[in-house]
Amino acid sequence: MTAHFAKRTIVLKGIGVSPGIVSGSVYVITHRIARISRHKLSDKALIREEIIKFSSALESSIKELADIKDKLNDPEGIGPLIIDAHIMILKDEGFIRNTIAHIENEGINAQWALEKTVSRYQEIFKKIEDPYLKERIRDIEDVVQRIFRHLSGIKYDKISDIEEETIIVARDLSPADTIQMKVEKVLGFATDIGGKTSHTTIVARSLGIPAVVGLETITSEVRTDDIIVMDGTSGVVIVNPDQETLKRYEDKKRHHLAMEEDLLSDAFLPAVTKDNYSIGVGANIEFIEEIPSAVLHGANGVGLFRTEFLYVNKERLPTEEEHFLQYKSVIEGDQIKWATIRTFDLGGDKFISDPRLAEEMNPAMGLRAVRYCLRERQSFIIQLRAILRASAYGNTGIMIPMISGVEEIKEVKKIIHEVKQQLISERIPINQQIKLGIMIEVPSAVMMADALAREVDFFSIGTNDLIQYALAIDRVNEHVAYLYRPCHPAVLRLIKQVIDAGHRAGIKVAMCGEMAGDPFCTMILLGLELDGLSMTPLAIPRVKRIIRESTLKEAKELLAQVMNFTRTDEIEPYIKKYMSRRFPQYCVINHE
Ligand code: PEP
Ligand code: MG
Repeated sequence: MTAHFAKRTIVLKGIGVSPGIVSGSVYVITHRIARISRHKLSDKALIREEIIKFSSALESSIKELADIKDKLNDPEGIGPLIIDAHIMILKDEGFIRNTIAHIENEGINAQWALEKTVSRYQEIFKKIEDPYLKERIRDIEDVVQRIFRHLSGIKYDKISDIEEETIIVARDLSPADTIQMKVEKVLGFATDIGGKTSHTTIVARSLGIPAVVGLETITSEVRTDDIIVMDGTSGVVIVNPDQETLKRYEDKKRHHLAMEEDLLSDAFLPAVTKDNYSIGVGANIEFIEEIPSAVLHGANGVGLFRTEFLYVNKERLPTEEEHFLQYKSVIEGDQIKWATIRTFDLGGDKFISDPRLAEEMNPAMGLRAVRYCLRERQSFIIQLRAILRASAYGNTGIMIPMISGVEEIKEVKKIIHEVKQQLISERIPINQQIKLGIMIEVPSAVMMADALAREVDFFSIGTNDLIQYALAIDRVNEHVAYLYRPCHPAVLRLIKQVIDAGHRAGIKVAMCGEMAGDPFCTMILLGLELDGLSMTPLAIPRVKRIIRESTLKEAKELLAQVMNFTRTDEIEPYIKKYMSRRFPQYCVINHE
């Protein structure tokens, strides 16, 4: 729905340790005692009392663990062993003796004495080289937390009570936490601390649950029931995402589920048909952390860098340097050979919670993208300067979203020209021949494609918006989602018109909307003779395989047939049937 969110979108970055993409509401586990108090015990009676309190907290902790163990439904699994190990710590003579000695000799409360004992263990564990053994300090810390809880008498949430499907957010997950969870309810784990060998990581991997650790502040940034999306590969977590982002992550999830290891073996091969028609395949990214995944899945370039997230969770606009470092890091690695940076597409439904953007009645058609840039020139210039500076480090293109007519791109070109002159006068290296392209996503731009093609070096068709505007269907409104059809004959004709106009003018035409990554559409897009496709990284291997196993000739025949139809309900079944027969392993019809 075109909902306006009161909650601010924030982005957190951690270490993606268990792959997979999930979205959903979170459950924050807050059973850690953050602050330990220190009391001086004035006389022997108080000290004796404190030792008794400590002993009874030990007893209660042992009993609690024994109860948990009884309830575990996998007596042969790792769970009972972990519980036994924790009980062993609770019964460990050295551990008990040292803590009691602190209470007695220093006249301090049990909590503080325990803190001292655990610090000593932490020091010892710090010296251990083996990363797995080193991490086992967490077991001791977890046991100590349990004793703390019993000492304080405060009741904490029981993880075993979680009944809804949720993403678990915690400072760290202890073995005892995880063995109590109903794993079928856990969609993902996101934690403040942890690394590649931490307990959360090991458990998440073995259960095949996506996880991001080392997020540092997630427990303080989210509340139970907040919505987040997380990518267990790139380590990106988006809190309170806007509807478009949520939808994009749903698509990513679909591609992730359909992805098979086997497809990766030749993902790096070029996308060339059997009769030698070649299409450039790039990745759509939003964060530089997605680049390793883009490369792994066979992209050698970035066809769309959505730069909007640079503006999220910032009190102020990003500086030129912040922009520049991002773009440079995309382009300077040796595996990404080219990158198309899209200037920001803010406004509309994107980050409407940003107070700088006034609430609009009809945001998708409001002051967004290039319109916003032309109004807020200073921030546009900052971004253009950064892209131009990055262009000195590798093959970079600038792409302008939401162009609706020739005057807009002429205005943009004037600004780019001025920015270039300014940088040259400052003796800052840039690629003066940097390619400039526009997204074709507004129907008026399709109608004017011949004239627009004379102004720029390339087009990239943004089907997500083009379909929305051409068919008058809000792309994030689930009530009209059934009308959102990439294979509507009008959409196919619009796409064809853009490609033909671009080619007549001698410029390249690519596509970067979701349609580009839909394997059922691949042969149609091939038949249309697109020069490039850019898509979410996980979609790349499948699409490349289809291209490599096709011929341009058959793709054109399929297209010719499809273009004869006048109804979506003729086109869609026809394409589905054709593709599922031709590529049964890559195009599986989902009869939901
Ligand atoms: C599109 O509109 O197709 C596109 C790729 O851009 P976005 O989804 O960011 O609007
Ligand atoms: Mg768009």
